[in-house]
Amino acid sequence: MNEPAARGAIQTECVIVGAGPVGLFAVFELGLLGMKCEVVDSLAHPGGQCTELYPDKPIYDIPALPVCGAKELIDRLLEQIKPFHAGFHLGQEVSTVARQASGRFDVETAAGTRFDAGSLIIAGGLGSFQPRRLLVPDADRFEGTQLLYRVRRAEDFHGKDVLIAGGGDSALDWALELCGKSRSVTLVHRRAEFRAQPASVARMQALAADGRLGFHEGTIRSLASKDGRLSGATVLRTDKSTVDIGCELVLACFGLHPKLGPIANWGLALEKKALRVDTEKFQTSEPGIFAIGDVNTYPGKKKLILSGFHEAALAAFGVQHHVYPAKRQFLQYTTTSPVMRERLGVGPPE
Ligand SMILES: Cc1cc2nc3c(=O)[nH]c(=O)nc-3n(C[C@H](O)[C@H](O)[C@H](O)COP(=O)(O)OP(=O)(O)OC[C@H]3O[C@@H](n4cnc5c(N)ncnc54)[C@H](O)[C@@H]3O)c2cc1C
Repeated sequence: MNEPAARGAIQTECVIVGAGPVGLFAVFELGLLGMKCEVVDSLAHPGGQCTELYPDKPIYDIPALPVCGAKELIDRLLEQIKPFHAGFHLGQEVSTVARQASGRFDVETAAGTRFDAGSLIIAGGLGSFQPRRLLVPDADRFEGTQLLYRVRRAEDFHGKDVLIAGGGDSALDWALELCGKSRSVTLVHRRAEFRAQPASVARMQALAADGRLGFHEGTIRSLASKDGRLSGATVLRTDKSTVDIGCELVLACFGLHPKLGPIANWGLALEKKALRVDTEKFQTSEPGIFAIGDVNTYPGKKKLILSGFHEAALAAFGVQHHVYPAKRQFLQYTTTSPVMRERLGVGPPE
């Protein structure tokens, strides 16, 4: 820590790490207090666990919403925070946090975006979502070049022999999308049942029956290489036979799982892989860095969205006091406060 401010960094009162439900509600609470923030998430879309793990499941314990779909909850939160015009930086993991000589924070993402922030709210949940990796010898050697876990540019797969592994929507969608554009597409999935849209499965099976797409029920057991480049893979089929498939690119779509990742390296006090906070303002061991939602721990902590919302409200007051220590704090109601209603864009009270 104790670095100078970075040139060209985005100036902000607060960086929120994580665009899950709790990070999104923190935008609202900061906005009510007149503060603007920047939100960063390693996923390409907001919503955290709600959109990544259970978008269609109904939630029953959000106050005043007897039932609400997980994705619907995120859509509602995004609607609620619209008046506050937060900056969103998606598909970027916050990698480093350093305190500047001024006491502000230099925050940087793995994609190179930098922030000069008065404070930080970490709403990182269980961590940033990482792809489940292909566990075969030599996989590391080809990762990022010929073994990929996500498609950044579909054109990179065109005209190539492609092996896709997985049985969810991503694997099926890419197999269908690339069929006819790649030189060959082979799909490998460990069992006959898929966790994908039935219509996609039916289309894939029809293409396989026509011989336009290869399909094997089995798992990749090893990778083959020639002159240092990936040249194929051996698949162990469920009937115990093996088949060698020539390919230049392997796309493994095994889903994502959360990993605390860089948050653990920012020098903050941890307890059982969670950030220790106080319960007055949910501040971590580092003044000016707050932690809310699933990422924090304190006596009696319950990992519920409801608890995270409460923590967001109190952390926002903590942020305000940290950034503007001389400012008098008092509680205002959205029903009656002209200044809050103006911030919400709903006009003065009647
Ligand atoms: C199947 C299931 C059902 C559930 N049902 C309920 C329910 O009915 N009621 C309830 O209250 N709760 C429920 N939960 C729990 C609830 O989803 C979590 O409590 C909630 O999502 C926590 O929100 P969060 O914003 O703290 O974290 P998350 O939703 O985990 O979001 C954290 C975000 O931070 C991002 N992130 C982490 N580290 C970084 C980094 N370094 N850089 C950039 N981004 C980063 C992640 O990518 C992620 O998007 C359920 C959970 C599951 C899995």
